[in-house]
Amino acid sequence: MSSDAVVTRFAPSPTGFLHLGHAYAAIFAEIQAKQACGRFILRIEDIDKGRCKAEFEEAIYEDLEWLGLQWEQPVLRQSEHIASYAGALEQLDKLGLIYPCFCTRGQIKAEIDRAGGAPHGLEGPIYPGTCRHLNKDECAGRIDNGETPALRLDITKAMKITGPLLWHDRKLGVQLAKLKEFGDIVLARKDVPTSYHLSVTVDDALQGVTLVTRGEDLADASGIHRLLQSLLGYTPPIYHHHPILTDDEGKRFAKRDQSVTLRALRAAGKTPQDIRTMVGLID
Ligand code: GLU
Repeated sequence: MSSDAVVTRFAPSPTGFLHLGHAYAAIFAEIQAKQACGRFILRIEDIDKGRCKAEFEEAIYEDLEWLGLQWEQPVLRQSEHIASYAGALEQLDKLGLIYPCFCTRGQIKAEIDRAGGAPHGLEGPIYPGTCRHLNKDECAGRIDNGETPALRLDITKAMKITGPLLWHDRKLGVQLAKLKEFGDIVLARKDVPTSYHLSVTVDDALQGVTLVTRGEDLADASGIHRLLQSLLGYTPPIYHHHPILTDDEGKRFAKRDQSVTLRALRAAGKTPQDIRTMVGLID
């Protein structure tokens, strides 16, 4: 197989049963690989220990098999290779781009209120930078006292290194990465030493994903991923952000909508072909 073969992935989090929206995303990714004689990967994004459950992970395999999807083995489970994320954090730390943040959500809110508000970023109010200039001794002292900090990326410093960045989307065209709009994002959470942005970027590179397909709600996040790719020396993939499947009233499906889970539809007598027809993706 040539090294520039298309590699796509479906990367669900096992926090509920898969529904029609997931079926669309998974089938879409598989079709893109198939049409290019490429490879299709399944990745389990299970860093959120509080919300991810073994039962849902088992159901992902079962539902996707029932749908007739075929993916490569072994399946990468993010919870099993935290060391890769630690390596990336170390690289960013060497560039002087990371700082510990001890703030609780409450403290961040209070700080923003005190300052009379904060600009609304792409992931909520932008972090006001309270811990950005804590000195090393103070940080060490707080860690010795049992506090566990999150690790944040100093976005201004990072942007100085990379300059403006573009990313390519097959559907949206060339995009300028929105970065300031995120502020100093968390790269390692207090409860788990990574974050969505870090782990997804590391894994897409590690697994050689060349075409990232996912819902358009994550399009802005691709700017941050592009920044991390640039800082970490990764080759950026091409993106294809597809519309999110909605119900007849235009509402997106949620994991709590039990009636559109693949298992409920299967129990109601639907076939895998019916599902493909329902999501409008006939191979
Ligand atoms: N794990 C994410 C989710 O379930 C998808 C991440 C991605 O495709 O980048 O929403």
